[in-house]
Amino acid sequence: MPVGTAVAGAVGGFAGAMLDSLLGATIQLRRWCDACNRATERRIHVCGGVTRVAGGVTWMDNDMVNLISTAAGGLLAVVLAGYST
Ligand SMILES: [Zn+2]
Repeated sequence: MPVGTAVAGAVGGFAGAMLDSLLGATIQLRRWCDACNRATERRIHVCGGVTRVAGGVTWMDNDMVNLISTAAGGLLAVVLAGYST
């Protein structure tokens, strides 16, 4: 494997992880369980109670954040690898 491709993969993976953290800390959907007074990502908490939205974007759940971050990191890696050859 060419060195450029390996570097592109590493940079893309790093960028994806950074984006994941960034989105998770900003627009990712946050929920709150009033029964336990605890933050959670679940619609139904482990206690069985229904949680309420406490912030973030409604459709931007953890799966969506992971998907976007992985796709963006992978895309960046492909673009970088293209430039490196
Ligand atoms: Zn609870």
